[in-house]
Amino acid sequence: MDEGKWTIGIESTAHTFSFGLVDPDGIPYPSVGDTIKPLEGGIHPREAADHHRDYAAELFRRVLESQNLSSNDIGAIAYSQGPGLGPCLRIGASVARTLSSKLEVPLIGVNHCVAHIEIGRQQCDCDDPVLLYVSGGNTQVIAKLQGKYRVLGETLDIGIGNMLDKFARQQGIPFPGGPVIEKLAKEYIDEHPDATLNGLELPYPVRGMDLAFSGILTAAQRLIEKGHSIGAVCWSLQEHAFAACIEVAERALAHSGKKEVLLGGGVACNNRLREMSTLMAQERESTSHAPPRMYCIDNGTMIGLLGYIELKAGRKTPFESSGIDQYMRTDDTIVIWS
Ligand code: AMP
Ligand code: MG
Repeated sequence: MDEGKWTIGIESTAHTFSFGLVDPDGIPYPSVGDTIKPLEGGIHPREAADHHRDYAAELFRRVLESQNLSSNDIGAIAYSQGPGLGPCLRIGASVARTLSSKLEVPLIGVNHCVAHIEIGRQQCDCDDPVLLYVSGGNTQVIAKLQGKYRVLGETLDIGIGNMLDKFARQQGIPFPGGPVIEKLAKEYIDEHPDATLNGLELPYPVRGMDLAFSGILTAAQRLIEKGHSIGAVCWSLQEHAFAACIEVAERALAHSGKKEVLLGGGVACNNRLREMSTLMAQERESTSHAPPRMYCIDNGTMIGLLGYIELKAGRKTPFESSGIDQYMRTDDTIVIWS
């Protein structure tokens, strides 16, 4: 990587195609991106990949314009190598390879989950956190042990964000449903400050150190069918699902002896989740951190930041090993930086 040049990060694991920049000193700048929003149904990987292909040229131009740069200022290209939807990852990887060969700059493929951790550490100035990674497709509790970010607990079925989006879709609320559920839940509890979960109980999603969200989704739909208001069910759904995530994160703190919780992933935008995490951390004489919302959702900047860090540590991705890995695990990446 040339000194004095910027790193571009390209994120394409799922619904969002996003380009972000990191300056020559490793300072991240906000991303530009576009998210496919299907009019009905969930996200179709092929359609999302077509969306990403259509936006590639425009997003590259816009990210350079955002900091008044030209392509000569770019010294490295980072991209999400996995995990994610195969067709979407392949678009990001081929755009990255094209830019790397055209601009004659190094290429670095990075682990999307690890990128969520590193942007959070950088933004929140945390040292060695337990990460509660809550996104559309992933729900994991992660901590660094013996040179790798290890998954201490995770969802056994769907990601918490997918669960929220599916519940929302069943009520006619378009993707992404999470923010609307947050708003409806808040309105409900503001109007009913003495509300209890009596009659609104849902199955509790904890399975040892793991989680499972499909049962709670079915049960929440059943509460709607029984005539409970959407607001009441959204509130109950958040209380149960978030408490489960916080409980697993708390146990991860206890087992690992760490003192910081870091939230990441799109669901970490949620104020109620942030509040629960803060309360839990306070009770354990620990601290809870959450990066700005633009760095919780999938974004190119976090990919650029991890690319910058890995290149500085001496790693790069030769073209012959730049293929994507849909099933890349958080602990596949050896942490060669600190
Ligand atoms: P990601 O997969 O990390 O890009 O995050 C997208 C997921 O975050 C989707 O499932 C959204 O519904 C969810 N999400 C975004 N904002 C919120 C919010 N305020 N509360 C709950 N979920 C949210
Ligand atoms: Mg993500």
